Amino acid sequence: MSSKIYGLYGASGFGQEIMFWFARQLERAGDNSRVVYIDDGSDKPVVDGFDVLNYEAFLAQPEPEKFATIAIANSVIREKLDHKLQRDGIRQIPVCGDYSFVRGATLAEGSILSAYVDITANVSIGRCFHANTYSYVGHDCVIGDYVTFAPRVSCNGNVHIEDHAYIGTGAIIKQGLPGKPLVIGKGAIVGMGAVVTRDVPPGVTVVGNPAKPLVRS
Ligand code: UDP
Repeated sequence: MSSKIYGLYGASGFGQEIMFWFARQLERAGDNSRVVYIDDGSDKPVVDGFDVLNYEAFLAQPEPEKFATIAIANSVIREKLDHKLQRDGIRQIPVCGDYSFVRGATLAEGSILSAYVDITANVSIGRCFHANTYSYVGHDCVIGDYVTFAPRVSCNGNVHIEDHAYIGTGAIIKQGLPGKPLVIGKGAIVGMGAVVTRDVPPGVTVVGNPAKPLVRS
């Protein structure tokens, strides 16, 4: 029996999307350790052929070396689980789908890049970053912790994105300038297809082209 076990945290929609890459990268690395889902709310014992264990059951497995990656889109849950994994000394491994590239960038623990993601030069990214398929991060971007990119986000160079921001499918973020980045504030939401041409304050949702704060009727 291998001394290692790998858990993908989240057996719901996003987790099921990512399991393919998670299991495949281990297989390609020649690591035939056990791969499971970790999920505290699932009523299914098996999903797509992988056992589903709650966190306590995962901890109780016999393999002494435990690794996990959090595949849950909600960034607040991600932060909570990240703290739990750190507390318990469980290392998070990055997931990188096919045709995704990280060049000259640093990513903190727990990142998930789906397929066809391009992270370019002089980029710095915080904990548990999620980038869905066909997303781009231009040069000199600084991205905080628990940030989420839906598919096809185009984040041009010199953009700063603060913790917990969510960038919707197909959003385009205008390039900032060296020393004067375009800033997307903490917890801000950029709607699907928005074209962001100026800073977004913390906690604000913007939509449209050019993107403006969402006024709820
Ligand atoms: N979940 C969990 N522990 C938590 C919070 C959530 O295991 O503390 C699981 C939850 O049971 C669910 C998944 O995370 O299966 C989140 O699924 P959801 O469909 O809400 O989101 P997505 O898969 O799109 O991220």
